[in-house]
Amino acid sequence: MNCLTGERIVILGAGVAGLRLTQKLHSTLRSGEATVTLIDENPYHQLLYKLHEVCNKEYHEKDIVVPLDRLVKNNDVKLIQATVESVDVESNQVQTSEGVFPYDVLVLALGSHTAFFNIDGIKEHSMTLGNYDQAKEIRERIKEIFEEAGKTGTPPNVVIGGAGFTGVELAGEMMDWFPALYKEHELERNGSLFTMVEAYSSILPGWNEGLVKNAHAYLEKRGVELHLGDPVTKVGERILELKSGAMMEPDLFIWTGGVEGDPVCPPGVQIRARRIIVNDHMEYEGHDNLYVLGDMACTVNKEGKSMPPNAHIAMIHADVAKHNIVASIRGNSSRKYKFQHMGEVVTLGKSHAVGELLGIKLTGLPARIVKKFIHLWYLISIGGIKLALDVF
Ligand code: NAD
Repeated sequence: MNCLTGERIVILGAGVAGLRLTQKLHSTLRSGEATVTLIDENPYHQLLYKLHEVCNKEYHEKDIVVPLDRLVKNNDVKLIQATVESVDVESNQVQTSEGVFPYDVLVLALGSHTAFFNIDGIKEHSMTLGNYDQAKEIRERIKEIFEEAGKTGTPPNVVIGGAGFTGVELAGEMMDWFPALYKEHELERNGSLFTMVEAYSSILPGWNEGLVKNAHAYLEKRGVELHLGDPVTKVGERILELKSGAMMEPDLFIWTGGVEGDPVCPPGVQIRARRIIVNDHMEYEGHDNLYVLGDMACTVNKEGKSMPPNAHIAMIHADVAKHNIVASIRGNSSRKYKFQHMGEVVTLGKSHAVGELLGIKLTGLPARIVKKFIHLWYLISIGGIKLALDVF
């Protein structure tokens, strides 16, 4: 591909959708058809579905992040490490920490970040699990509070707020690690390992009932206290207030209460479910040179219900956008997004998982194998067999 002529395609974000689109455009576009610029604030692609594993005692950086220059060759695609500051859809320009980038086609794929729902004090007094750096910070803080507890002899009080997918996968890792920390710091366990607080009356709200029951029973069996049906309403320094009036005094409060699309979006865009509404072509309505993909985009299923963000949906977004960008350059007809749901697998530490794949329910070893297989398949899809051999 010759990168010096043609349409200027600028892709913001090298997450699942942005990276896949970049790689697919690179392999599809002919010489002179377009230049592709990929902008991300990090020099790496994060395997976000493995982020919770960082909050355990053992992990290797190469298992969680992959250098972008390994996935995208710099002479084919312009790889820019910069923070996106604003987008001007009138003058077709993106303002970043490294300067201004004019574009003919813009793709917003900046992912999501933690939603705080304006809960009093939560932003200041919680830790969050939205990216690799945050995951490392949580891990270090857990080590610190256990060290402090070892000096006083009183076990630390750890609370996770929000028992959705992220909260439950994080709980699984902590549940595996905490017994070893108790032993290391010679602490006596006088109750649960830690507590999860959830606004709804069940963990993983809205998911398959049987799988939720299985996950609930497993967490309780392994010493996690589940405080359900009681939203967090206020957070202070080592204090947590719940709607029921109950109070908790956590040494560490980790907030996993949900996500919202990245706030960098053009002024005046339509938002639903805290994401940008797109049409069936993955374009922002009224702007046929502006695509929104992945966690930033709100797409709907057959019943018109907005779909939760996940990696598989982000990949479908990227494939539709690739087709339509190439079609617009070549004057071909565009393609529509069609909702497909493969399912989800949720890990509960190293020894258990529950999931649903193409309508088939899985628990225990089969669920863990499927999760491993998805990981392997994803690595091959972004970096071929060589990456899979290095990372898997
Ligand atoms: P989520 O929205 O799925 O879960 C957030 C949870 O926090 C919900 O259960 C919600 O009821 C609870 N909550 C919200 N406000 C609260 C309050 N005030 N007090 C107590 N609880 C409160 O968000 P998530 O878990 O971060 O997941 C985000 C998306 O990422 C999901 O849509 C999911 O598809 C995806 N994800 C998938 C996997 C997987 O497939 N294994 C893992 C992680 C994330």
